[in-house]
Amino acid sequence: MTKINPALIGFDIDGVVADTGSAFIRIVNEEYGINSITLDDITSFEVVDCLDVDQGIIEEVFARLLDEPLATGLQPMKDAISVLHRFAEEAHLTFITARPHGEPIARWLKHFLQPAAFEKIRLVAMGAHDNKTSYIKDMGLKYFVDDRLQTCQMLAREGIKPLVYNQPWNKNGHGLPTVNDWRSIHALCFD
Ligand SMILES: [Mg+2]
Repeated sequence: MTKINPALIGFDIDGVVADTGSAFIRIVNEEYGINSITLDDITSFEVVDCLDVDQGIIEEVFARLLDEPLATGLQPMKDAISVLHRFAEEAHLTFITARPHGEPIARWLKHFLQPAAFEKIRLVAMGAHDNKTSYIKDMGLKYFVDDRLQTCQMLAREGIKPLVYNQPWNKNGHGLPTVNDWRSIHALCFD
């Protein structure tokens, strides 16, 4: 199979590069004493729709993950950083996120990436979930890895090849290509 050119692929951040789901579960456990939920319970991207957790708590935790990702202890997904270092040897690292502010997550990326790889990043914080396609096309990309099914379906309709990063909240019957982890992203792009 032909490998994907590393210059043509971009990445969402939360749920793809950053293990935001696990951080959410850990924070509600450690700081709100809610220990009854697991990652598999998050069956909807709209967390409030699938968890029996007070909406105020959910909003507070997500606000912290957005505003101070380093302080919350948000971790990269397994193998994400080493694979991104490999990508950075070949091309820019392009991240397009719905996060409202780029700076906190840029600091987070800077913390985990080697300086030479961090220099290769292009980061767009859109502040909205929709309309990712235009940013992706502006960046000259043809492939995009995202965990939000609606986003991936929209990309597919608009001429971008989405790769759905498998998560408990995006598993309901779609025909789009998926990736399970960063080893499979690596395998799609490198020998
Ligand atoms: Mg995401």
